[in-house]
Amino acid sequence: MDIKKLKTAHREVAKMAECKEIFWTNPKAGDEKKLPFNMEDICEAEARLKRFAPYIAKAFPETAVSGGIIESELVEIPEMKKELENMCGEFGGRLFLKCDSNLPVSGSIKARGGIYEVLKFAEEVAIKAGMLSTEGDYSILTEPRFRELFSTYSVAVGSTGNLGLSIGIISAKLGFKVTVHMSADARQWKKDLLRSKGVTVVEYPDDYQKAVAEGRKEAASDPYCHFVDDEASQDLFMGYSVAARRIGAQFEKLGITVDDEHPLFVYIPCGVGGAPGGVAFGLKEVYGENAHIFFAEPTHAPCMTLSMITGLKNEIAVSDIGLDGKTEADGLAVGRASVLVSDVMETLLDGCYTIEDNRLYPFLARLADTEDIFIEPSSCASFPGPSLVSADAEWLEARGLTDKMKNATHILWATGGSMVPEDEMRSYYECGR
Ligand SMILES: *Cc1c(COP(=O)(O)O)cnc(C)c1O
Repeated sequence: MDIKKLKTAHREVAKMAECKEIFWTNPKAGDEKKLPFNMEDICEAEARLKRFAPYIAKAFPETAVSGGIIESELVEIPEMKKELENMCGEFGGRLFLKCDSNLPVSGSIKARGGIYEVLKFAEEVAIKAGMLSTEGDYSILTEPRFRELFSTYSVAVGSTGNLGLSIGIISAKLGFKVTVHMSADARQWKKDLLRSKGVTVVEYPDDYQKAVAEGRKEAASDPYCHFVDDEASQDLFMGYSVAARRIGAQFEKLGITVDDEHPLFVYIPCGVGGAPGGVAFGLKEVYGENAHIFFAEPTHAPCMTLSMITGLKNEIAVSDIGLDGKTEADGLAVGRASVLVSDVMETLLDGCYTIEDNRLYPFLARLADTEDIFIEPSSCASFPGPSLVSADAEWLEARGLTDKMKNATHILWATGGSMVPEDEMRSYYECGR
């Protein structure tokens, strides 16, 4: 790979190699392209989650209030908007936070895709055993005979942390044997919590990619093992995408309009790409060209940004441009992007930007001070987004958005936080102060 050539061809890549922050808009956004999924796939995933709702409500009583549907609030954060404008620059419209940081069961966006994939596997196993039908009441899955059935199967996953939490918690609850392969940079409390639930945690001194590779290898040799592949799973992707089918009702309640005159902007932190990719795909299916999606990554691990700018997908890693992939935003510490997501996002994503680790904490503290909402550092990577987009007059003009920005709805997608132990969160907060 000729890195020198890449740097000359893309000035952003040269800046990224120096660990500098960049903002990039995608020239291919809106181009025609045949996608591997469609609205039907999203609806199928949504229907499956509805079938499981009676089980979820029973197995996780905290979800009973929402009828066993794992969903998060969308809240307006006007005080944080003022802070953000002071810190990063003014922008028109209203600012909201999508609180996936508070998702029940596992406290991060992984409660969408991760739980969905394990439920789908459980459904297959139970139907094949003749013990469940798609028309039946899924709350029977809490019965001991199902735990017995599932205990003959195992689930494995490689994870930087939050995916491991989701897969571990739901798999152990259903009765699967479950192994989480974790990279060394995963937080200790996540490992402890999983072990307390009977999950086998295997630690690797190397990075996340190594953990995934080991998990995949172990699973490949065992026909009774289902491996959740963060780099390539379509099930994970579809689970995330369902968010887009549910957010419309929240828009209605909050008086949010999305149409030709009222653009929607969504800013999501990105690791390997599955979670933000799935949400973005869903939103583009539902809201089309009125939805504008941007991904945010740390300057030390901008794998999707690199993939998108160079068009090289998973053939390029951040180490190829001399970056170490190390970041305090542990949910985003990924060196190589998912090829599946890179491919789907090629024409759907409006752009990417990167942020230095030390800027995450002040956002975390300001959000706590102004809105009393606590989220993890990874979750804060998206915060400069509305200001960055609004400052790019040329891009806004080219996309016919200049006069519409006063009507814009900006959503910062908070991806994790509620499971972080209190003392750990306090130290993040103090750091940000
Ligand atoms: C996993 C995660 C992300 C990004 O999701 P990917 O699928 O890895 O791109 C963002 N924030 C948090 C807190 C996460 O746990």
